[in-house]
Amino acid sequence: MSTNTNNNGLYDVADLQHIANELFKALPNEFPKEISLSPDHNDHPKATKVVETLLSTGNLAEFTPNTSLQNPTTAYPSHSPVSGLGVSPSVGNYANTGVAGLYPVTDLDTVFPNDKNFNINNPNTGFSDVNLKGSSNDNNPFSSFALNDNYLPFQTQSSSFESELREALASVNTAFGIQPALTLNPAEAQNSYYFLENNPFAFDKKNSFPTAGKGSSFHGIHQLKSTPFDANLIKKDFPILSEKVNGKPLIWFDNAATTQKPKSVIDRIAYFYEHENSNIHRAAHELAARASDAYEAAREKVKTFLNAGSINEIVFVRGATEGINLVAQSWGDNNLSAGDEIVVSNLEHHANIVPWKRLADKKGLKLRVIPVDDDGQILLDEYAKLLNSKTKIVAFTQVSNALGTVTPAKKMVEMAQAVGAKVLLDGAQSVSHMKVDVQDLNADWLVFSGHKIFGPTGIGVLYGKEDLLNDMQPYQSGGNMIQDVTFEEIKYHKAPNRFEAGTGNIADAIGLGAAIDYVTKIGINAIGQYEHYLLEYATKLLKEIPGVRLIGTAANKASVLSFNLQGYSNDEVGQALNKEGIAVRTGHHCAQPILRRLGVETTVRPSLAFYNTTQDVDKFIETLWELKKVRF
Ligand code: PMP
Repeated sequence: MSTNTNNNGLYDVADLQHIANELFKALPNEFPKEISLSPDHNDHPKATKVVETLLSTGNLAEFTPNTSLQNPTTAYPSHSPVSGLGVSPSVGNYANTGVAGLYPVTDLDTVFPNDKNFNINNPNTGFSDVNLKGSSNDNNPFSSFALNDNYLPFQTQSSSFESELREALASVNTAFGIQPALTLNPAEAQNSYYFLENNPFAFDKKNSFPTAGKGSSFHGIHQLKSTPFDANLIKKDFPILSEKVNGKPLIWFDNAATTQKPKSVIDRIAYFYEHENSNIHRAAHELAARASDAYEAAREKVKTFLNAGSINEIVFVRGATEGINLVAQSWGDNNLSAGDEIVVSNLEHHANIVPWKRLADKKGLKLRVIPVDDDGQILLDEYAKLLNSKTKIVAFTQVSNALGTVTPAKKMVEMAQAVGAKVLLDGAQSVSHMKVDVQDLNADWLVFSGHKIFGPTGIGVLYGKEDLLNDMQPYQSGGNMIQDVTFEEIKYHKAPNRFEAGTGNIADAIGLGAAIDYVTKIGINAIGQYEHYLLEYATKLLKEIPGVRLIGTAANKASVLSFNLQGYSNDEVGQALNKEGIAVRTGHHCAQPILRRLGVETTVRPSLAFYNTTQDVDKFIETLWELKKVRF
């Protein structure tokens, strides 16, 4: 590679820009197809790494920077790794390219010594992606920036927050017995699930998965590999996360609305329809046995996941909404009478308000509301004052979908049961973020939706204590839920069949089982810890943006960052983020009472999951800063 030099013996910028663009064109899709060496452009971090490397090795002469760049006026956070370069600082991990005003004095071949054989169709021939574990190499001049095997992208930065984060993540890996990294070979990194052995045929026959020799192409879960928690690799298990939206890599921050599905879940459902599809429980043939086995195996997985005492306590329903309606009607309608009191919290999703309000209106019951403080935290003293001998049921959420508040659920259950009330816990926003142990929590019922825990839509779970479920009236009636029918008398099954009238959502229940397998193999506690630090990271950066008002500032939160941005409507913010490929929800999030309590009608609500990375957060924050530059 050769370039012209200018009078000072430095290479010509136009030549360099040309060379750089040739190089970038050859890269896989996620790289920009064009970079500019103009001071005003904010290009790919890769370019920054080049420049930083060259600067640090003395291979670049610094050019007098553009004055506007010497005096950055925008209030960017100060922790940028390039803020000392005299060029426009940037956000978080994503340094500004810094290429502005810098003249290289070296051949680019020396910058990419091992990365020259690009094949546009094969990402593995591109130069190492600094963000992917195992793709760096020792001779790579970026190695001081690139990830070492055990580190997430932000962990190579030096602020105290990030070193703390690094230590915390290291402890996630050790606490959960995860061994130091295995180096993934490129084929493995591309084809297999992050933590799974890539053996398509080694499945447990009991779960009706393919067995050796059947030749299925199913690549599913087999066994845990000793690999550290690495969100960048986990991302690869979710095909949709490779989508482009508006030409940008999709960043899915709408996890509180629904989560994306790993390939293992998608494959499991396809496998059901290709090899097992049948109605369940009522036939002598092979496929009925396979389908019934797989469906009941999924129930068993849910039971283990929740630590329920028995599979009879696990009822498949359509989702959290149906679970709550089931309890309100089957139990509430038959056990409550005028003057009785129902207690819900101010944090509730409409799904945990409307069925109770309707029941209260129908039967002359009193609906009472546990208040929250200005941070969105339950006021336990006020809650205690609401409880009395008339309180028959307390229904509340473990995690607020609008604010992310984690409620002191165990304590609240105890307090309700002390006055003889039953408790329904809404686990729609908790089960994917923290260990939920129904025996420990001791609630009488718990509901959640499959689609919020990386499983399919149209399937969810009602957990209930076995005796209580067997005491309850059926919800819907018809086939499957009866023991015997005559025109004179009907005998119902016990739970769970008692509540599963008609043909259920068999395939998606099995898909939910696969989702639970996936989460379990990664480890719900490891997920919780990783997400906790990711949320802290995002919260810290979000708070630094002038004009951001965080809605929901509880000490104990999970996943959710609701906010308003001064000068913009929430829809405008959502649309601006969407332009960058970032999906967030804007609106009232089906939780109008709590938003009104905090003085707003709607918010912008990013919500995180374990496949999100600090780079996703950085991009999100960077986009908000861009908005702030335009309108203050
Ligand atoms: N409760 C909470 C806390 C929720 O976040 C949701 C969904 N947003 C629901 C209940 C209802 O879940 P689904 O729509 O899946 O039935």
